[in-house]
Amino acid sequence: MNDHIEVLILNQNDYREHDVMFRALSKEYGALTFIAAGARKMTSKNAGSILPYTKAEIHFDYKEGKRMFRMKTASTRNLYRKLHEDLNLSACASFASETAMAMHNESEETAIEEYEMLETVYDALNTGRQPVTVLALYISDMMKLFGIGADVDECVICGNTTVHAVSAKEGGFLCADCAERLSVPFKTPNELKRFRILVKGSLKHLEMIEKAGGASLADLEILADMLKLHAGIELRSFAFLKRIFALKADT
Ligand SMILES: [Zn+2]
Repeated sequence: MNDHIEVLILNQNDYREHDVMFRALSKEYGALTFIAAGARKMTSKNAGSILPYTKAEIHFDYKEGKRMFRMKTASTRNLYRKLHEDLNLSACASFASETAMAMHNESEETAIEEYEMLETVYDALNTGRQPVTVLALYISDMMKLFGIGADVDECVICGNTTVHAVSAKEGGFLCADCAERLSVPFKTPNELKRFRILVKGSLKHLEMIEKAGGASLADLEILADMLKLHAGIELRSFAFLKRIFALKADT
């Protein structure tokens, strides 16, 4: 009833002739879908306030049990300007928003944490932090939140504490014998150490983890693969992100 909530806008789609449909993450109710009537008309006062990857205040009537609502009005609380000006950062924000939507389980129990993590991601990307490190820590934090974190304390198969490889399929580190048997390529001690820091660390330690070398695209790919193999969550925007960062690495 006449509710005002702060949301992070995850996406936006055209809906009917003049309307817009968008998903948004809130602390109070988790992810909700809104219809913004008339938002595609030139005269719309709300259109500029419901852009993806922004923080907005939404005015609507909440009803328990419903997940879709008609938005009354919206106003921008944080535009995260760089996420709209820089194509690479837009792709990163899109990937983070897709992750937020794909991993969200409609439960309100974890809503505050999910909101705060994504807010940290938008903010960190907007203020020039290492994008790949931000995204890797975000996935890692979300995996821990939902109890599907990787095992990086020992070989996941035999428990040997001397490890040489990481396998998305097995869900963590492997010793030399197990890695050879499964044809998983070895990684350097430095690469393993970095991956362990990503899994054990959190967005809260972003600065420290950046200083320790941050994440590589390969690290992010292993985490995305783990989501796909162990939670059935395929992040479609990762392919595009990979192309962008591969191109950047070439230049
Ligand atoms: Zn082993």
